[in-house]
Amino acid sequence: STIVQYLTCAYTSIINRSPLCPSIFVLKHHNYLKTNKMGSPPSDFIITATESMDSKEFMHLNPQDFRGKAHKAVDFIADYYKNVESYPVLSQVQPGFLKNRLPKTPPNTPESFDTILQDVQTDIIPGITHWLSPNFFAYFPASVSSAAFIGEMLCTCFNAVGFNWLASPAATELEMVVMDWLAVMLQLPKTFMFSGSGGGVLQSSTSESTLCTLVAARDRVLNEIGIENIGRLVVYGSDQTHAMGKIAGIPPHNIRCIPTRMEDDFALSPYSLRKVIEADVEQGLVPLFLCVTVGTTSTTAIDPIKELADVAKKYNIWVHVDGAYGGNACICPEYRPFLDGIEKVDSLSLSPHKWLLSYGECCCLWMKNPNLVVSALRTDPEYLKNKHSESDSVVSYKDWQVAGTARRFKSLRLWFLLRSYGVENLQNHIRSDVRMAITFERLVKSDVRFEIVVPRRFALVCFRLKQFNGFDTSYTELLNKKLLER
Ligand code: PLP
Repeated sequence: STIVQYLTCAYTSIINRSPLCPSIFVLKHHNYLKTNKMGSPPSDFIITATESMDSKEFMHLNPQDFRGKAHKAVDFIADYYKNVESYPVLSQVQPGFLKNRLPKTPPNTPESFDTILQDVQTDIIPGITHWLSPNFFAYFPASVSSAAFIGEMLCTCFNAVGFNWLASPAATELEMVVMDWLAVMLQLPKTFMFSGSGGGVLQSSTSESTLCTLVAARDRVLNEIGIENIGRLVVYGSDQTHAMGKIAGIPPHNIRCIPTRMEDDFALSPYSLRKVIEADVEQGLVPLFLCVTVGTTSTTAIDPIKELADVAKKYNIWVHVDGAYGGNACICPEYRPFLDGIEKVDSLSLSPHKWLLSYGECCCLWMKNPNLVVSALRTDPEYLKNKHSESDSVVSYKDWQVAGTARRFKSLRLWFLLRSYGVENLQNHIRSDVRMAITFERLVKSDVRFEIVVPRRFALVCFRLKQFNGFDTSYTELLNKKLLER
C-alpha cells in the first residue's frame, strides 16, 4: 500500500507539474501542495491499484481553507498575548493532567478547526507555564517580538529545507548575511565573519554550538596525535559553566570544572586554570578545549576572556566563549568590553532567543575556522552532491551542525527583527531591561530583610532573605526556597 500511496502522489504530482516528468523525479516529489485536479491518468503512467484513488481526496493545504483558519489562529494568538498576564504564571496542573482530559485514541474522521482551537484554550493553556507573562521571573527570558514571529511564519510558510545552497539558495545566503550583520553589531573582528576569513551559523542551542566546536577541536588534535589517544584529551571550564559536551567522546573524568570563588564573583581565575592545565600536562594528558562564559547561568559571572585565552594559547587549546545570555548585551557599546580579547578565541556563541527577541532555538555561533567544524561533521552522500557544493563555492550549512539535513529557514526571523527594529531599538530594549533590574536591585538593597548576593551585571538580580537573629540556617534556607517557588 506504500507503493500505492507513492504512485497516487506521483500521479497527482504529474498532473500538477507535467505529464512528461520522468517517474524517478516525480516519485521524489510526493510532498506537494494538493489542488483539486484529479483527472484520468496520463496514458504512459499505469496505475493498477485504485484504493487511494477512490477515496476522497485528502486536502492537506488548500490556500483558501488555510487563509480562514490562519486568520482565526492569529486572532487567537493576539488574544493570548493580550491576556497573558491574567493567567497564573506557573501552571497549576498535576502530572498526568492531560492524558485524563484527552481521548485515548486519535479521531478517525476530521474534527472542526474551531473545536480544536477551543480545546487549546480549555485543555492546553492550563498546562502552560507562561514564559511570556510580564510576571515571569524564572530562569532567563524567552524573548519574543512581532517581527520575529512574522519571520517565523514565513519560515514555516516556505518550509525550505536549506541543508545546502542548492536546496534553498536564499536560506543559505540570508543566514550568512544576518550572521555578518550581528557580528558587526557585536564589533567582532573580521576573522569571525564571512566578509573576513571566518563565518557564522544558526544553531538551536548553546549546547549544540559547544558540541560542534568541541568536536572540531577534538578532531584537529586527534589528527595529530592519533585517535587512540582520545582518552588523553581534557576539557576545561569552571564550576559555573553551563554545558560541556559530554557526548563528544571525552572521558567524563577528563572534564575539569574548576572551582570559582565568591571573592572573584564566581569568575574563572586564569591562575587556577593554568595550575590545573599544568598538572594535567605533567600527567601526560592533552589540553583540548576551554569554555569561557560571559554571563554564567547562576549569577551572570564574567570570565576574563583575554587572560584566559592567553593561558590557553600556550597549550594550543581551542577557546570557546559562551555568551548565551550576557553576550546579547554586547550589542551596546557600554557592555562590549565584556568581549574584550575575543580576537584571541576560536569561537563564540550567544542566543538571541534569550535576550534578543527572536523566539526559541536561535543560537548564533561564529568561528574563526569553520572548515574545522565542516571537516568534523561533513556528510557527503551521492544524492546531495551538486556542482555548487562540489566546487566549494558555496556554504553547505548541513556540515556546520549536528542536526543532519533538517534545517529551517530561521534566519528570516533575525532578518525581520533587525530590519523592523534597527540596532538602536534593540540596544534600547537591552538597556530598558537593565534599568528595570537596577530599580529592583535598589528596592532590594533598601529592604533590611534581603541582601544582594553577587554584583548585578546585566538584568539578573541575585538576592536572598538574610538570616535573622534567632533563626537557624536551615530555617532561612527553607524560607528562601519558599520564596523561589513563588
Ligand atoms: N550557557 C549559558 C551561560 C546559559 O545561561 C544557558 C542557559 O540558561 C545555556 C548555556 C544553555 O543553553 P542551551 O539550552 O541553549 O543549550
